[in-house]
Amino acid sequence: MRTGFVWDEWYMWHDTGSAAAFLPAGGPIQPDTHVENPEPKRRLHNLLDFSGVLDTLQEIEPRQATLEELLRFHTPEYVDEIAEQSAESGGDAGDLTPFGPDSYDIARLAAGGVIEATDAVLDGDVDNAYALVRPPGHHAESDIGRGFCIFGNIALAAMHARSERDIERVAVVDFDVHHGNGTQKAFWDDPTVLPISLHQDNFFPPGEGAVDEVGEGDGRGYNLNVPLPPGSGVGAYETAFERVVLPALDKFDPDLIYLAAGVDSGAIDPLGRMMLHSEGYRTLTRQLLAAADEHCDGRLVAVHEGGYSSAYAPFSGLAIIEELRGERSDIEDPFMPIFAELGYQGLQPHQEAVIDDAAEKLDIALQNS
Ligand code: ZN
Repeated sequence: MRTGFVWDEWYMWHDTGSAAAFLPAGGPIQPDTHVENPEPKRRLHNLLDFSGVLDTLQEIEPRQATLEELLRFHTPEYVDEIAEQSAESGGDAGDLTPFGPDSYDIARLAAGGVIEATDAVLDGDVDNAYALVRPPGHHAESDIGRGFCIFGNIALAAMHARSERDIERVAVVDFDVHHGNGTQKAFWDDPTVLPISLHQDNFFPPGEGAVDEVGEGDGRGYNLNVPLPPGSGVGAYETAFERVVLPALDKFDPDLIYLAAGVDSGAIDPLGRMMLHSEGYRTLTRQLLAAADEHCDGRLVAVHEGGYSSAYAPFSGLAIIEELRGERSDIEDPFMPIFAELGYQGLQPHQEAVIDDAAEKLDIALQNS
């Protein structure tokens, strides 16, 4: 496969400042490194280089999303606010989304990078693509940045595909450990875009991502959530794919699929409490590619979201990218012997109950397809 790859060193210069995990330093909170820092992403890039995989990818040059593109989703007031704060010394986009100088332009480069990846796939320049962008995007809403996300990278690219590229139906599969609230809100009443989020139940944003959030109006049935119990492993994720994600894609028959590739659903992520490992990510990616082959000539754009373990995010990301490419490097994940044997890695009854609940939503889901 010809796999496109979006990367720019400037993504790594987005500065989330001093924090303890995700809370700003101050008062009783001693300054430390923010959990959303460049290191996991940079180390993934380095592992791609070390493994030789980087040389096999087709470079896609990112550009900054235009104002017109940003305004398809975001309000003018919000965009102005980010631009103003960024031109000074930075600020916070609203809800746990600190940024430093120039992050307005860096966030536009992230959104524009995903748009460029989309165009490269739709033009047939590449078969599929991976955008290793930063800041991430799936929590960003129209008028507020949330959970380290400033602009909705995938939402904006999907809107571009819909309005500029004759794409009728877009599916977004999100296996980041957090709920894809921004994508859900962007297409809440829109039957042409189907967000499917697999996430840790009631994690971030708090109180969002329940199984009964299925969209409204014309969009009713065109939004699916699988809020998995903490401790879910490969068995739960593969079952959720088998009973919810893949049947939904069959029913919806998308023209283009995005993967919100958060690897914070992996074992030893400092934020998530799930247990996926690189072989798990590999299987999920392979199944999604098969669905893309069946429905839309393989058109799949994977976009990096969360993933905060500097040690492990690189091996998860490498596995996803190798699958997109259809060829493995000779790198063996050195963590696999431990993570494959973790207790409760297989499907548990309480996980299956949640998945079957979500699968029932398929009955009302996509009723107009
Ligand atoms: Zn996340």
